[in-house]
Amino acid sequence: MRIAMIGTGYVGLVSAACFSEFGHEVICVDKDLGKIDALKSGMIPIFEPGLDEVVSANVRAGRLSFTTDLSKAVPTADAVFIAVGTPSRRGDGHADLSFVFAAAKEIAQAMDGYTVVVTKSTVPVGTGREVEKIIRAQRSNAECDVVSNPEFLREGSAVEDFRRPDRVVVGCETERAREVLTEIYRPLYLNETPILFTSRESSELIKYAANAFLAKKITFINEMANICEKVGADVQDVARGMGLDGRIGGKFLHAGPGFGGSCFPKDTLALLKTSQEVGAPTRIVESVVAVNDQRKIDMAEKIEAAFGGVSGKTIAVLGLTFKPNTDDMRDAPSLVIIPYLQSKGARVRGYDPEGEREARNLLNIEICKDAYSALDGADGFVILTEWNEFRALDLDRVKKLLKAPLLVDLRNIYRAATMSAAGFVYVSVGRATQKPGK
Ligand code: NAD
Repeated sequence: MRIAMIGTGYVGLVSAACFSEFGHEVICVDKDLGKIDALKSGMIPIFEPGLDEVVSANVRAGRLSFTTDLSKAVPTADAVFIAVGTPSRRGDGHADLSFVFAAAKEIAQAMDGYTVVVTKSTVPVGTGREVEKIIRAQRSNAECDVVSNPEFLREGSAVEDFRRPDRVVVGCETERAREVLTEIYRPLYLNETPILFTSRESSELIKYAANAFLAKKITFINEMANICEKVGADVQDVARGMGLDGRIGGKFLHAGPGFGGSCFPKDTLALLKTSQEVGAPTRIVESVVAVNDQRKIDMAEKIEAAFGGVSGKTIAVLGLTFKPNTDDMRDAPSLVIIPYLQSKGARVRGYDPEGEREARNLLNIEICKDAYSALDGADGFVILTEWNEFRALDLDRVKKLLKAPLLVDLRNIYRAATMSAAGFVYVSVGRATQKPGK
């Protein structure tokens, strides 16, 4: 199959590289000349584990190429995937579909012969219909089908997720389009990945329903963590005891500073908008959004309390991205928590293994070259993102560098007993505060 991928970001580039690995011929298109130039010269513009090898192997094999010129990629394609961004529209929380619609218009002008146009971007119910209208308005005789194929990969494990998804969801209305999508995903089908064919509307809603449900799980365990702190229970034991129940499952039951990232915040908001518009409000998702917004403030106040006020203090923050193994800072909790601490007079020093470039654009803090230089002379430190390299810090060295041995661990990556034995005041989430044991 010949595929054009419009939008070469976290989803577009991973999908394109993996499709080419399946044996298809894929051309990636992006408006961002810098991105395309970087890719052409063998550089990967984002941090995503394992992606560089898949890209370079398939470029070498002649199956994967890059261009800024959509009109060159589309005419020969059997399927054109739209993987452009759908951020929150400023002010009202609606998904901003302007990039999707602009891409649809350009595709319509360039397509030649039967083409399946596939929305991989996360888009509200009814968008497929709109995309089809746009195409038909440009080219009334266009021979095409518009299909929904939402993406479920996670940044940080995107390549593995794409190669071995739990399921592939395809919303399509014709047998002809179904055959093209079946052919594209055949290698996964042979691996026994369930491929679920639904109506376009169901497919579009499945993506939002899944993300809102996962966001709800995170929010639920965060509220349980608050209860644990009041009653002397341990949220990790509670989460484990819940998660071992097969009906619940242990994933997404990690208490922390609230969800962030490029998907959950904007997708829960967009689902709320859809639900209000169609007159089927969802109070659960409303609460999830409100509780999660408050969660970030609550965590900033938790830090403030642990430090006994932060005015004039230097706080080292380890981890700035919204989760480990990505350089993505979109809606990261750090973007709320750090400015809050600064507004209370704290001086913040940060370190992140991969997020430095984005953090420099988004935060007005001193960014250090490693964890230990961030800790040097600080009044205590905070773990905000659970990068592996923070799990095994040299605690003696840390203690010597800090003015006071205080850790606020918002990801619960240390054992309370270990920290106490190492002489730290250890504040974590949903567990009792530990005083130094010696
Ligand atoms: P991104 O911002 O990383 O990439 C989008 C790319 O599209 C950018 O490089 C931009 O330059 C390009 N673009 C915009 N308009 C274009 C046009 N007309 N022609 C060519 N290129 C164009 O976004 P992303 O994180 O890859 O997300 C893309 C979509 O996938 C969103 O709808 C998102 O909700 C969804 N999604 C994202 C993830 C994730 O983890 N990032 C997971 C699942 C689904």
